[in-house]
Amino acid sequence: MIYTKKTIPVQQLPTGEILMIHEYNFDSGLEGKKVYIQANLHGPEVFGTALLTKLIEYLEKKASITGSVSMVPCANPIAVQQKSYNALTGRSNPISGINWNRIFTVDKKWKSTKEQEVYYLNQLKKSNGSIEESLAANLMLLSIGSDVILDIHTTGNKTAPHIFTHKKSSHLFAALDPMVQILWEKDVAIGAFDESHVIPFLETLPFDKTPHAATWEVDCHGTIDREKLNNRFEQLTEFLEVVWQNKKTNPVKCVPLSQHNHLHAPIAGYYSWLVDPGSTVLKNQPYATVFQPWIGKSTTLFASEPFILIGTYGIAATGAGEQIGLCVFL
Ligand SMILES: [Zn+2]
Repeated sequence: MIYTKKTIPVQQLPTGEILMIHEYNFDSGLEGKKVYIQANLHGPEVFGTALLTKLIEYLEKKASITGSVSMVPCANPIAVQQKSYNALTGRSNPISGINWNRIFTVDKKWKSTKEQEVYYLNQLKKSNGSIEESLAANLMLLSIGSDVILDIHTTGNKTAPHIFTHKKSSHLFAALDPMVQILWEKDVAIGAFDESHVIPFLETLPFDKTPHAATWEVDCHGTIDREKLNNRFEQLTEFLEVVWQNKKTNPVKCVPLSQHNHLHAPIAGYYSWLVDPGSTVLKNQPYATVFQPWIGKSTTLFASEPFILIGTYGIAATGAGEQIGLCVFL
C-alpha cells in the first residue's frame, strides 16, 4: 500500500528550526474502520515510535486493508528533545510544569465531535495560545472522527503491558493481549488524550457514535528492546486484524481505575526488587529489600495487602513515601 504523509509544524525553536509532527495515512478506499495510532507523547516513551515505524514498513508491503490506518510515530517532538545524564526526561513541559498527557480538554457541553473539532480549530487560531494548546489541537484534529484510537505509552524501568480504556471498549483492546486492563470511571477525566475522545460524549451520544480509545502501556521508558518490539508488533498486527475482520477476542483481566495505584516506599533507602512486574504479591509475601547505609542494615519488605505489580519506577534510592511502582490492589 502507498501512504500519504502530512507534515505539521508544531513549534519554532529560538534558533529558527521548526519541530514537526509527521502523520502517515494508509487509506484503502474500502469500507471499514478508521484507525488512529500515536506514540511518544511523553518524551522518554520511545518504544512506540519504533513500533509504529515498523508498522509503516509492514503496511507498505501489504496489498490492502479495510478502512484506513493513520499513524503519528512521534506525537511530541518537543518532549523527546529533553534529556539528562543518559536519560530521556520529557514527561512534562519543563517551563510550565504541565504533563504532556494532561493537555486535552474534556467539555461535557459538546454535543458532537463537530463541536469538539471547532473548539480545537479555534485553539489553533488563537494569537496568545500556549504550546500545550497548540500541540493538543494538532493531535486532536488528526484523530477526531476516527473509530479506533490508540495512544502508545511506556511505564517505569520495567513494566507488564497494560491498557487504560472504557469498559465498553475492553473487548476490542483485549486483542493487544495486555496483562490487565484498567477501566476508566465515568466522570473521572484528567485531560489525557484517549479519554478526551470519549468522556465528553458519554452522556450526550450513543456509545456506537463515540470511538474506541485506549492508552497502551507497552514496555518501559527510554529503551527499545528488540525481542519485546517483535512481540508487541505481533500483538499490534493481531489487534489490527481484529479491527479489520471484526474477529472475536479472548477476555483479559479488567479492574476499575480506583484499584490502580502507585506503590509508595514505606521506608527510605536503596531498593532492590524481589518480584518482577506481572507478579501477584500475596499478603505477607516479601517484595523488596531496602538497604539503609546510615545504619548498615538491610530490611525485607512484606506486602501488607495483596497486589499485582504492574511496573517499577527504577529510582533505586528512594525517600519514604515516594513512588516506587505501579500496582493494582486486590
Ligand atoms: Zn506516557
